[in-house]
Amino acid sequence: MASELEPEVQAIDRSLLECSAEETAAKWLQATDLTSEVYQHLAYYVPKIYCRGPNPVPQKEDALVQRILLGPMEWYLCGEDPAFGFAKLEQANKPSHLCGRVFKVGEPTYSCRDCAVDPTCVLCMECFLASVHRDHRYRMTTSGGGGFCDCGDTEAWKVGPHCQKHGPNPSEMEEEEDPLVHLSEDMIARTYNIFAIMFRYAVEILTWEKESELPADLEMAEKRDTYYCMLFNDEVHTYEQVIFTLQKAVNCTQKEAISFATTVDRDGRRSVRYGDFQYCEQAKSVIVRNTSRQTKPLKVQVMHSSIVAHQNFGLKLLSWLGSIIGYSDGLRRILCQVGLQEGPDGENCSLVDRLMLNDSQLWKGARSVYHQLFMSSLLMDLKYKKLFAIRFAKNYERLQSDYVTDDHDREFSVADLSVQIFTVPSLARMLITEENLMTVIMTTFMGHLRPRDAQGRLQFERYTALQAFKFRRVQSLILDLKYVLISKPTEWSEELRQKFLEGFDAFLELLRCMQGMDPITRQVGQHIEMEPEWEAAFTLQMKLTHVISMMQDWCALDEKVLIEAYKRCLAVLAQCHSGFTDSEQPVTLSICGHSVETIRYCVSQEKVSIHLPVSRLLAGLHVLLSKSEAAHKCPELLPLSELSPPMLIEHPLRCFVLCAQVHAGMWRRNGFSLVNQIYYYHNVKCRREMFDKDVVMLQTGVSMMDPNHFLMIMLSRFELYQIFSTPEYGKRFSSETAHKDVVHQNNTLIEEMLYLIIMLVGERFNRGVGQVSATDEIRREIIHQLSIRPMAHSELVKSLPEDENKETGMESVIETVAHFRKPGLTGRGMYELKPECAKEFNLYFYHFSRAEQSKAEEAQRKLKRQNREDTALFAALPPPVLPPFCPLFASLVNILQCDVMLCIMGTILQWAVEHNGYAWSESMLQRVLHLIGMALQEEKQHLENVAEEHVVTFTFSQKISRPGDAPNNSPSILAMLETLQNAPYLELHKDMIRWILKTFNTIKKIRERSSTSPVAETEGSILEEYLRDKDKAERKRKAEIARLRREKIMAQMSEMQRHFIDENRELFQQTLELDASTSTASESSPMVSDLVLTALGPAQTRVPEQRQFVTCILCQEEQEVKVESRAMVLAAFVQRSTVLSKDRRKCVQDPEKYDPLFMHPDLSCGTHTGSCGHVMHAHCWQRYFDSVQAKEQRRQQRLRLHTSYDVENGEFLCPLCERLSNTVIPLLLPPRKIFNRLNFSDQPDLTEWVRTISQQTTALQGLRKEESSPHPASSENPENKEKVRLPEGFRPDFHPKNPYSKSIKEMLRTFGTATYKVGLKVHPNEEDPRVPIVCWGSCAYTIQSLERVLSDEDKPLFGPLPCRLDDCLRSLTRFAAAHWTVSSLSVVQGHFCKLFTSLVPGDSPGELPCILDVDMFHLLVGLVLSFPALQCQDFSGISLGTGDLHIFHLVTMAHIIQILLTSCTEENGMDQEEPPGEEESAALSLYNTLREHTGSALKETPSGWHLCRSIRAGIMPFLKCSALFFHYLNGVPSPPEVQVTGTSHFEHLCNYLCLPSNLIRLFEENSEIMNSLIKSWCHHKEVKRFLAGERDAISYPREPNRLLDLPQDYSNLINQASNFSCPKSGGDKSRAPTLCLVCGALLCSQSYCCQTELDGEDVGACTAHTDSCGCGVGVFLRVRECQVLFLAGKTKGCFYAPPYLDDYGETDQGLRRGNPLHLCAERFQKIQKLWQQHSVTEEIGHAQEANQTLVGIDWQHL
Ligand SMILES: [Zn+2]
Ligand SMILES: [Zn+2]
Ligand SMILES: [Zn+2]
Ligand SMILES: [Zn+2]
Ligand SMILES: [Zn+2]
Ligand SMILES: [Zn+2]
Ligand SMILES: [Zn+2]
Repeated sequence: MASELEPEVQAIDRSLLECSAEETAAKWLQATDLTSEVYQHLAYYVPKIYCRGPNPVPQKEDALVQRILLGPMEWYLCGEDPAFGFAKLEQANKPSHLCGRVFKVGEPTYSCRDCAVDPTCVLCMECFLASVHRDHRYRMTTSGGGGFCDCGDTEAWKVGPHCQKHGPNPSEMEEEEDPLVHLSEDMIARTYNIFAIMFRYAVEILTWEKESELPADLEMAEKRDTYYCMLFNDEVHTYEQVIFTLQKAVNCTQKEAISFATTVDRDGRRSVRYGDFQYCEQAKSVIVRNTSRQTKPLKVQVMHSSIVAHQNFGLKLLSWLGSIIGYSDGLRRILCQVGLQEGPDGENCSLVDRLMLNDSQLWKGARSVYHQLFMSSLLMDLKYKKLFAIRFAKNYERLQSDYVTDDHDREFSVADLSVQIFTVPSLARMLITEENLMTVIMTTFMGHLRPRDAQGRLQFERYTALQAFKFRRVQSLILDLKYVLISKPTEWSEELRQKFLEGFDAFLELLRCMQGMDPITRQVGQHIEMEPEWEAAFTLQMKLTHVISMMQDWCALDEKVLIEAYKRCLAVLAQCHSGFTDSEQPVTLSICGHSVETIRYCVSQEKVSIHLPVSRLLAGLHVLLSKSEAAHKCPELLPLSELSPPMLIEHPLRCFVLCAQVHAGMWRRNGFSLVNQIYYYHNVKCRREMFDKDVVMLQTGVSMMDPNHFLMIMLSRFELYQIFSTPEYGKRFSSETAHKDVVHQNNTLIEEMLYLIIMLVGERFNRGVGQVSATDEIRREIIHQLSIRPMAHSELVKSLPEDENKETGMESVIETVAHFRKPGLTGRGMYELKPECAKEFNLYFYHFSRAEQSKAEEAQRKLKRQNREDTALFAALPPPVLPPFCPLFASLVNILQCDVMLCIMGTILQWAVEHNGYAWSESMLQRVLHLIGMALQEEKQHLENVAEEHVVTFTFSQKISRPGDAPNNSPSILAMLETLQNAPYLELHKDMIRWILKTFNTIKKIRERSSTSPVAETEGSILEEYLRDKDKAERKRKAEIARLRREKIMAQMSEMQRHFIDENRELFQQTLELDASTSTASESSPMVSDLVLTALGPAQTRVPEQRQFVTCILCQEEQEVKVESRAMVLAAFVQRSTVLSKDRRKCVQDPEKYDPLFMHPDLSCGTHTGSCGHVMHAHCWQRYFDSVQAKEQRRQQRLRLHTSYDVENGEFLCPLCERLSNTVIPLLLPPRKIFNRLNFSDQPDLTEWVRTISQQTTALQGLRKEESSPHPASSENPENKEKVRLPEGFRPDFHPKNPYSKSIKEMLRTFGTATYKVGLKVHPNEEDPRVPIVCWGSCAYTIQSLERVLSDEDKPLFGPLPCRLDDCLRSLTRFAAAHWTVSSLSVVQGHFCKLFTSLVPGDSPGELPCILDVDMFHLLVGLVLSFPALQCQDFSGISLGTGDLHIFHLVTMAHIIQILLTSCTEENGMDQEEPPGEEESAALSLYNTLREHTGSALKETPSGWHLCRSIRAGIMPFLKCSALFFHYLNGVPSPPEVQVTGTSHFEHLCNYLCLPSNLIRLFEENSEIMNSLIKSWCHHKEVKRFLAGERDAISYPREPNRLLDLPQDYSNLINQASNFSCPKSGGDKSRAPTLCLVCGALLCSQSYCCQTELDGEDVGACTAHTDSCGCGVGVFLRVRECQVLFLAGKTKGCFYAPPYLDDYGETDQGLRRGNPLHLCAERFQKIQKLWQQHSVTEEIGHAQEANQTLVGIDWQHL
């Protein structure tokens, strides 16, 4: 279709090119009716430019639009060439001081915790870095898009509103200058004209609803039948559904469908078909049919192409307006004026109104374009911001209702602009007074809350799905209310008071609807059938928490408002309670001669609700009254007389009883919903406006009551009245052994009731309740949190309530109560409680959960014991000294000494004294003791603080010394305590009782000091003395017990040890033997170490045979490693690796045809082998692996579970250490010894040897050619055979016998094939000729990577290696050396020939790489390990050792030439003063020879010193690798010098490797042959190209590879990532930008747009990149999550802690807390090490084993 249109389009282009912007503008300037002129222009051209085919061509369209449509407007506006016009405008402009930068998705934003007015005030990175706040406590987040930088807004910042760039110009301080004065009259008029027309056009066309008809003035003459089938976005259908449907409906490929779906999701709409009406209509019906089954169908429209064209231009126009106004504040003001000007239809008809009111009808793309325009125009102009705010407020209800029914996220709704408007304090204040905003918000909100019950209470359980959906959306209005309230007024006008109280009323109405909602009734008999709905109510409560607190804050600011609010709140509460006593029967309670009237009500039988927001608000206001002292100054204003204390306490008390009963197990049948409600009631997110306020409400009520009355009502509500009012009840009750459950239940209820009394008297850390300062409350919270255990900063923050600014106030006090302990390499920084704060610890702190309480108790007791603070009382945890109450609450302390309380205490102590059965509990007693302690502390405080003549009315100590009245005649409380302190069953509480008695005496003494009574004094001292003696005796007894216990334990332990040895006798003997064998080995070593150790060649140091014994980890059987015995194997993991790669772009195209014989020096892809070093019998392993395989197959069939390892790929976990493995390496003895059958003293020198080998290889090649020649007959032709002249002693027909046992041979093949399969990523094929090559390569690569790691860490080459590495390398080297015995001899010989020919070119050089393109170490390993295949047929007398040595020397010289060619070009500035030494002049002459051969293409001769230095530096890694290689191959111990760190070990290495330390001497000694070899090397065409500068080559030493250098400050990374856009979907922001830490590539992860195909499967960008960059191993940083991601292959992955920490030593995965993050070098180093040591896959395995959920993640989609 596109091709048909092509010529037509070109024709149009030609006609379009003729249109000139200047001329059009000139015509417009003359026009009388500008509007119709412009419309004609648009009507003609817009459809010609846009929408010419099925797919948009943005670049072409944009160019034409600029030229034909926008150009004329710019000319018209400027009245001259816009290139000059705009520049002039910009120059004349005095820019406002607002930054206003609109944030992109993922861009970092900064807020200052010290200076921002609220947390929504943010800065862009640029402004932040130039502001004062960078040194403050700032918070960093990533923007979700939308919103702008508040730099320059004086209302947003308490201090430092301007950054350096946006600072006000001090010369012109006059505010609010009209920006229009900078523009000429003409200009203003023209701008006004064109803006008015264009803005109206855009609004008209974007809000146009007809599908095939244009507005009349834009209709075209001839209309073609071209339509679009337009698909719209919704939030209901998933990507998969859309993609699937599209493939069906418009017949596209999956790729196209994905691209459509991505655009629809991003822009909100996308045409999916272009053609005539019929054609599009058909697609539409298929889409609708396919998506209407479960949900509402996808929105699809068939639109005429010209409408789409105009709409596209409309959008373009809005962006254009946005950019034009950037030139001048004057233009911006005109645009604002045009936008807000009322239209012909009056109210709500300005262009801005029309856009807002149509918001929910527009598609996403259109919305975001006009929202952005609003932000850059209306919100940047101070005058119009206010006018816009009014328009917004007037439309508020409609906008919110539109939003609630719309299904787009809030960020795409114009309603979301509320945050920009309401958070500006002056605007918010203005809108409250002028537009009654608070009331508007509340009524709008309430309007959406339906249905309600008969009393008007909310009934969430009856919501339909749609109502629930709306309820979720309407909650954002609460946020709006929060914004409005966030900045508190400093001054109150009468009007503000009035409007605030009006809003307060509306708010109270909401709370009234919540009071008593979700009532519950205790379920008896059977379990509830369905869990009732409870979450909605709590969600609402949680969202409201801050608003409720803020309402109180506002009230606190103005006495008049406070009193008025208090009255209204009280009235509403009374209204809620009207009829509260009607239905219930009155009863009279009496104890100890006190009696009270109350109602009969049982929580366990009647309805009860946990939602009491009205009473709780009243409690809050009451405390404020107490604090503000309004109550004292003008009590006549307060309705205190209207208060009915029993009414106030009734409902909160029921809540506490409910909790107590739930805890006692009485509500078990009510299910989890109740448990959850109780949990949230106490939870840190809700408690401030729930539980805490209930405590306050009880305190309020009780402070106005007779405490005896209260206690009786409380007993009655707890359903415990009977127990305490009937003297003998306790005894009767305990004898009822049948009802254990009831006893237990009652015990718990009594405990809970006592706990409540402790709270009512003890909780005073609330300003207004107790006389405390603002920080005391938070200080106390922290002390109690840290009493449980040391905590990290974030844990502490989580346990503290946050205010509306997300602040806990913790920083202000933390230093005074805790020490900070820094984190190590793992873990996080911790705060530890200072010991001196421990005395403030209250065991019954009201925010402790039960678990926390017992943990804290244990921790504190332990601490006391450790410190042995007070030797006599060391385990007591007495109540802390408390601050005094405020006057309004002062009477609360009397609870402690009232008659009913004493009766309760006495009763419980009595039970404890008699301790018969289980009618009491220890924790009950503990609470009573605590209460007594509190009372004594209180009395002591009173006595100490009393003024001279005052009488202390708190006389608890006297009351407890009195025995009970007749008829009971019970002993006094004091007497009972004295009895109890000796009770053997109260060991744990003895210290506390002792503490009480001691305090009692102190008080007595104080009292007596004033009344001077000597008798009492002696009494006291006698008591004390008695106590002291008792203590001593007690301690002695305890010490004795401890001694006996110790002895017993010791005896037990030695017994156990004996058993263990008996059982494991065998094992012990083995250990002993092993010890013995190692010691003999070390004894023999002096013999060796006296010599100079040599690792190879004829002079190789002879090492005595060492027998090696190993134990199989599976069957525990021991075995010797021998050639002919059963194979022993090590679990091993083979993986491909690019860790050493110098060229990550390289990739193997077709692994089946790839020839790995020569490793390129860029080491782009190697094969690494690792092992945990655990040994098994081959057959044991085989059996183990088979069972794993069988088990996995069964499991996968049954559960479709994943595992951390892939059995089908041969993976398994080491049975001992669970390390991931995928094959096994056989253990072998040094293989060279087996084949080194001949050892003549007369050996050829290098020249002679090369000649012999050349002859042999030529002969072999001749033979090969012959065998493969096409005529089979010719091979029998004796004439032909004669052509191949066999060198003397060479017997190609000889085939040596394989010395290895069958089982070892099998394992050689197994490991070889596994290495081949993994290394080349091909199907296993035992016979493939490349198998031996890959095995040698893996040996070479693994050694190279170890050498790299050691050098990087500055460790000695032969230092103490971890066993597993040592074992692995030894086995790997020996395996590789033995592998040729199981391969075809001719194949290995063929490889040798090729490798050899690359150094010693024969007659026909063929296509072999030049020496610049060969990694010499790989070449060395290949040559040495394939050489035996040739040597075994050589009977001329050349030994294997000789060959090794000559190969090594030859390769070393080639490497030196390589280095001289590539790495000596850099000139050093330093000239050598001293005359050149022997080595230096030798190097110089070698270099000169080289220059001769290269035709002087090499650089001018550098100094000899420089050459030597370069050679030594360049060759060092090679020498080190070679030393490791020969060490493991031949088993010669390493020279001791190389085992320690130190300077260069060059000489030692040379000795060990049988090299002269002056390496150039190698050339001199073999000058004859070397000269010709060098010449042939230099004449290779690639070398010539290199010398001519036509190509690059690797230079030496190769730079180490490290992970990317990460910036110190994490926000740099965020910023970098926010500038990154998806490479595939055209400038779209990536949602999960992910950084490859290996190569630094940024990827668009976890998204459809960047999925690619890998081995026939769709994978995400990270997986695809992992394959190419890391050969299957990836190390990434997910920037927006601040999380390290490890990937291995397609199926494995794990997350890893990022190397970024905040100042508190914590990571922030997910960037939730927003504290500044800085790089932690040590942690980064750790990640780097994991990567360098090839341990990433292993790490993933461990993580997945530890956390099974990781296994289920679809890693390939990341
Ligand atoms: Zn800024
Ligand atoms: Zn700024
Ligand atoms: Zn600041
Ligand atoms: Zn075994
Ligand atoms: Zn292991
Ligand atoms: Zn993408
Ligand atoms: Zn990479």
